[in-house]
Amino acid sequence: MEKQMTNWKSCFQPITTLPGVGPKRAEALAELGLASIYDLMSHFPFRYEDMQIRDIHSIADQEKVTLKGIVVTEPILSYYGHRKNRLYFRLAIGEAVIMVSFFNQPYLKNKVILGEEIILFGKWDEKRQTLMGIKIVGSQSNDEDHQQSFEAVYRANKGIKQKTIFQLIQKSFELYGEFIPDPLPRIMKEKRHLMGHSLAMKLMHFPTNPQAVQEARYQLIYQELFLYQLGLQELRKHRRSTKQGMVLRYDNQQLRGFIKTLPFELTDGQKKVLNEICYDLLAPYTMNRLLQGDVGSGKTVVATVAMVASALAGAQSCLMVPTELLAYQHHQSISKLVSNQNLVVAKLTGSTKTKERREILNQLASGKIDLLIGTHAVFQDDVTFHNLGLVIIDEQHRFGVKQRQKLTSKGEGVNILQMTATPIPRTLAITSFGEMDTSILSEAPKGRIPIKTHWVKEQEMDQVFQYVKREIDAGRQAYVISPLIEESETLDVKNAEEIYRMVSERFHNQVSVGLLHGRMKNDEKDQVMTDFQENKIQLLVSTTVIEVGVDVPNATVMVILDADRFGLAQLHQLRGRVGRGAHASTCVLIASPKTENGKERMKIMCDSTDGFYLSQKDLELRGSGDIFGVKQSGIPEFLLADIVRDYDILEEARYDAIEFVTQDYEKTELLEYFMKRQAKDMTEV
Ligand code: ADP
Ligand code: MG
Repeated sequence: MEKQMTNWKSCFQPITTLPGVGPKRAEALAELGLASIYDLMSHFPFRYEDMQIRDIHSIADQEKVTLKGIVVTEPILSYYGHRKNRLYFRLAIGEAVIMVSFFNQPYLKNKVILGEEIILFGKWDEKRQTLMGIKIVGSQSNDEDHQQSFEAVYRANKGIKQKTIFQLIQKSFELYGEFIPDPLPRIMKEKRHLMGHSLAMKLMHFPTNPQAVQEARYQLIYQELFLYQLGLQELRKHRRSTKQGMVLRYDNQQLRGFIKTLPFELTDGQKKVLNEICYDLLAPYTMNRLLQGDVGSGKTVVATVAMVASALAGAQSCLMVPTELLAYQHHQSISKLVSNQNLVVAKLTGSTKTKERREILNQLASGKIDLLIGTHAVFQDDVTFHNLGLVIIDEQHRFGVKQRQKLTSKGEGVNILQMTATPIPRTLAITSFGEMDTSILSEAPKGRIPIKTHWVKEQEMDQVFQYVKREIDAGRQAYVISPLIEESETLDVKNAEEIYRMVSERFHNQVSVGLLHGRMKNDEKDQVMTDFQENKIQLLVSTTVIEVGVDVPNATVMVILDADRFGLAQLHQLRGRVGRGAHASTCVLIASPKTENGKERMKIMCDSTDGFYLSQKDLELRGSGDIFGVKQSGIPEFLLADIVRDYDILEEARYDAIEFVTQDYEKTELLEYFMKRQAKDMTEV
């Protein structure tokens, strides 16, 4: 024990310390990302070959198997073509006799001895009743090679062979295996029945059976995730214990007064979330909160109340949104909501005219503006605030980490509320956002009728338009979304224009049709949106520019063309444009998907309107290797852990990390060291 405490660092020596690793090999190993002896010991096999001797009657065609038998014919080596040869003989396994063929390994001839027992690894060819030999594992005279029933297979490269890697790993375990430390706190090890780090490492390379590998993997994955979660939880604790946040002491009576003037009563969920936010605003630490609410759950009004609270406390607030369209819509609706308060609300976007912009910047700097609503324009260098106390970021996933930071650095101890309508699957929420506090708005405002979703083929388009017409005749409005063309915005626009013409023709003068796409000028877009809001446009043909945030409660039909081109999260966002009012709404997916994945997506959409469920499914269908914005979100690449597949372990690790931090358990030097290693991997991403 004593020895281990002092010697664990020897594992972290450069790989060149290992006998047999010169500069050339070190270089090849470095290419595999291996710099220290410990790195080499953590170079785990990516799969295992099953070397257990199998029963000849239970093997399948093309399966790789190990067989044991007696050589019953003299081995024959025959050459054909240039340097091509085949070694073959018959092998008796009990009653059965099979053929064995080795290609281009003439040197094996001496090892095959008539009448002797031999153990072979190869691929079974059922039709030919032949084992296509890969290697000789053992023989009667020499059975030493066949000790392990599972053999590790490693990632290698041109500079270094599999076999060499395995030999080096063997060597490193021989010399340093006993020094592999166990960084995890004892409490966690006992609670999770972990086998211990060094044993787990060893079993990964030298497994005794598949079960052992499973348990070893669990230990190692848990460890990776625990170290990572511990880092996040410490950050959170640190933030919440330092008194450097701006305290926003608003008058509660006044705030209640404002809430009473809202055109509807807040839902219980909204009240709960607002309590959480207001508690943070009054506290001396900086708020860093993520508000997750499904589409249509009513996040804007929550943001509005928080901004009013901030203004009542004498601080400025800023709401940043990803599109001009949203800035326009939020500015309109929020101005209306706060019109009875004595507050100055301004809008700043990329299209704000120079003169007006200068005026706004002056008023911001002097503190005249209380609420600023805008796009990326709000974090530009020349924008300064008098006393910025609260930043709200709507549709936060549309912004990069740097952009969000730039805005919040425009004040000191600024409180941050990030909102997202793309429900973040829990997997991501507790990794990429693990350091933040979260609020969840789960219920929709009362009186909403669940949206019905139908998946139809293109041939049924006419019935769909008949349905659209009936809804419009009943006073409702509809969207038609043109197919997503990612490669070219020009094509995207052309497509939308074409569909606009087609739809206009289809309805002659019976319906007023509008068009919205990304190439239009901002005031044109604003005009179209105003007309749609006022029901002057009854049917809006649009590209995905309306994907996020747009709120027109009277719209009840969402038709999405070539719906299989969209991902689940995006479809859910688009569908969320309807079902926002008191009338029943419908979403029609028009699609003839060719892939299984596409069909699956259409079915899932018809089955569920739960954004959290959908985003988890989305993640599963796409896999964790392809999570939207992973690079941006700062999730490290783990050695073994896969946050989607290993979600259960992730939850355990997080739970334990929270316990560790709240119970103030002591950190050993070793634990600190391993956390730093993990953090290093994080910044590399
Ligand atoms: P999202 O969470 O998707 O941003 P919005 O904030 O745009 O949703 O709200 C969706 C619609 O619900 C808006 O028309 C809004 O006015 C309405 N709304 C929000 N809160 C309530 C409530 N408590 N009662 C009734 N309607 C509400
Ligand atoms: Mg919104």
